[in-house]
Amino acid sequence: MTLSTKLYDEAVRLFPGGVNSPVRAWRNVGGTPLFLVRGRGATVTDADGKTYCDLIGSWGAAIAGHAHPRVVQAVQQAAAAGLGFGAPTTGEIELGRAIREAMPAIERLRMVTSGTEAVMSAVRVARAFTKRPTILKFAGCYHGHSDGMLVRAGSGPMTFALPDSAGVPESVTMHTVVADYNAADQVRAYVAAKASELAAVIVEPVAANMGVVPPQPGFLMALREATRACGALLIFDEVITGFRLGRGGAQGRFAIEPDLTCLGKIIGGGLPVGAFGGRADVMEQLAPVGPVYQAGTLAGNPVTMAAGRETLALLDAAAYAHLETLGAKMAAGLETILARHRVAGCVQRVGSMLTLFLGIERAATLTDVERLDRARFRAFFFGMLERGFYLPPSPFEAMFLSLAHGEEDVDEFLSAAEDVLRHTPHGAGA
Ligand SMILES: *Cc1c(COP(=O)(O)O)cnc(C)c1O
Repeated sequence: MTLSTKLYDEAVRLFPGGVNSPVRAWRNVGGTPLFLVRGRGATVTDADGKTYCDLIGSWGAAIAGHAHPRVVQAVQQAAAAGLGFGAPTTGEIELGRAIREAMPAIERLRMVTSGTEAVMSAVRVARAFTKRPTILKFAGCYHGHSDGMLVRAGSGPMTFALPDSAGVPESVTMHTVVADYNAADQVRAYVAAKASELAAVIVEPVAANMGVVPPQPGFLMALREATRACGALLIFDEVITGFRLGRGGAQGRFAIEPDLTCLGKIIGGGLPVGAFGGRADVMEQLAPVGPVYQAGTLAGNPVTMAAGRETLALLDAAAYAHLETLGAKMAAGLETILARHRVAGCVQRVGSMLTLFLGIERAATLTDVERLDRARFRAFFFGMLERGFYLPPSPFEAMFLSLAHGEEDVDEFLSAAEDVLRHTPHGAGA
């Protein structure tokens, strides 16, 4: 019995499912999760002393690698000066300025403490500004766990969404509609029929919470045009893609200006964080200037601001070139392995985030993704774990590379992946 297993037995008596966020419980692969005690650079070490090459990277937040000396030093300095005051500090200005310089569409912003909160507040501002109730989202995009975002499609894109969690009333989800990702025609049809009700379209500009699903050419532009034409707002949820796909995030990469942007993960340098921002006229709806109430005791925390500021300082052009090189090498290597061993699957990548989808040839929508081979993924996950690679414990997630990963890590990853994929049986039921 491993120490992680013993710790998990203890944890399940404290926390539902033993965890404080469901994906950590490994329900998508079975088995018990590892307890991690240390992270350094590209590696994490578990309670049993085994070290792994980490491809989760705190779900993308750890873009600098774990415990980067400069980030740790900035955190220590900030902490020594006081952990937080609930009053304005210069750290907010420093991080806020870095974000606005990187994303010019963000004229004003507000710091919050999670991505969930960023989306929840952005949606409230959008409704207040437009004086309309409905939010259109896409199936497979995750926007945190606020009531109105925990929805699944109703009987069609023109009907209101249904709760996707117990405890969420239909009276809330009736103000959300769900369209298929990459289906610009569904959005146009909705706008044509119900524009006067539509407050905002919210989208992950590169979907990364159903595995990596890139936007098809023209999709994001179609959303920009459809929303602008009818007076609704376009919200980019860049909680993952912000500072991941380049300093300007997905909006910089695809040259599309949203009205509002949600951020999280990377901008906290590994500490709890969120932010939302955008057009000044929209953001000035917020209290204390405007009528939209929104607040946070620990928002703009100086230690978090320091970690974020120092992390963003590491993300220069050379850093993104390195991430791009690693991502391209990993994707090409995996594709070669799939072809060489006639394994059904595909690799979808944007920059330094990628997903190996086993059992499907491509994925443009959640419906495509749901056809993947879960049994085959499970075998891949445990095969890689055995060989020292800590992958997301679900086939519906992205792998994240960091500045601490090197080409040799990718080489080792690929030889392990070849070994595993060559030996796992073909077809379902592995
Ligand atoms: C992680 C994530 C969120 C939620 O952020 P939390 O900090 O977990 O609340 C929202 N949107 C996207 C796109 C995310 O990836």
